[in-house]
Amino acid sequence: MSKKRKFDTDAIRHQQERTPYREHSVPVYMTSSFVFEDAEQARAMFADEIPGNIYSRYSNPNTNEFIEKLCLLEGTEDGIATASGMAAMYSSMAALLKTGDHVLACRSVFGSTHQILNTLFPRVGITHTYADVNEPETWESKIQANTKMIFVETPSNPALDLIDLEWLGNLAKKHNLILNVDNCFATPYLQNPAKFGAHIVTHSATKFMDGQGRVIGGAVLGTKELIKEIRFFARHTGPSMSPFNAWLLSKSLETLSVRMQRHCENALKLATYLETNPTVAKVKYPFLASHPQHALAKKQMRLGGGLVTFEVKGGLEQGRRVLNGLKMISHTPNLGDTRTIAIHPASTTHSKLTDEERAAVGITSGLIRISVGLEDVEDIIEDISQAIEKS
Ligand SMILES: *Cc1c(COP(=O)(O)O)cnc(C)c1O
Repeated sequence: MSKKRKFDTDAIRHQQERTPYREHSVPVYMTSSFVFEDAEQARAMFADEIPGNIYSRYSNPNTNEFIEKLCLLEGTEDGIATASGMAAMYSSMAALLKTGDHVLACRSVFGSTHQILNTLFPRVGITHTYADVNEPETWESKIQANTKMIFVETPSNPALDLIDLEWLGNLAKKHNLILNVDNCFATPYLQNPAKFGAHIVTHSATKFMDGQGRVIGGAVLGTKELIKEIRFFARHTGPSMSPFNAWLLSKSLETLSVRMQRHCENALKLATYLETNPTVAKVKYPFLASHPQHALAKKQMRLGGGLVTFEVKGGLEQGRRVLNGLKMISHTPNLGDTRTIAIHPASTTHSKLTDEERAAVGITSGLIRISVGLEDVEDIIEDISQAIEKS
């Protein structure tokens, strides 16, 4: 086949070779190691002269299939599967950075990524500077002689601010820096950072990629050259994904586009409704015309994503009453599930930040984040509307 296949065909049809049992659906390879045919094959595989699975910490048919599919969907050359999103973030940085290096990161990174940069990396002499997504003009002046990597998330959590990936790709190229983008919120269906010049694309597969709240997993994708170093790091430090999780996630990718279409359709309807509710002070959703970066969202994202944030006029206290008044929607910190989820970031996921740090990343005390699920949107709107009404 010479013509490049389309997204859904790759997501569904890319498959390892069948076993002699001629199964249609890929089996789970629950094995810690693989048998060599002879001494020469064992030697050659260990010497990296021929490909092949040796031990499931290094590779396994299920993790290989999951990663090969993801590379097709993201447009990257190579990748590794990791036990969690954080294993992906940490491996992608720790494998490529050394004492004395500096990272330029967007201020609104995921909480645990913040802990890696703020608490763990300084212990080994890796420093960072945060830059604000709404002040792109300040980024270039924050690049130092020892800056090695730019690390960002877009859309940001939970403020849903965007970074112009094309601009950032050019900035990274100009200064010869590795651009690492956590693409968890968008998924490869909505946005492909590698097309804009990202060298590394990191994922928490726990969220929309699995989409059903069942597993913890992650992935690091990128250029052959960089993944070679990250694979070496992962092989010897062991953050590998279990074959069972890889099997589940590979199946999940088969329905990623249809799920994301519905997440986004429901999210846009909810956001549009919230804008008409007189008790709501502010709504943010990248595909609403009122989003300050609406044009950028349309340029670099296929649809607006599954998250919506809003604030009620009564601030923190009324926000808490809204959460307590929900009847169907789950109150839990996860996101990207078939089930709609609500959370109050200031008192939970972002409670470890200072007030100033929260303000700098757009988290006001009354902000509520909704991960819009796949239930009928009328029921999602009804639940939020009754909770707001009685708050
Ligand atoms: C959840 C999340 C992570 C961490 O992923 P885990 O699978 O929970 O380890 C990293 N980045 C973003 C943007 C996330 O939402």
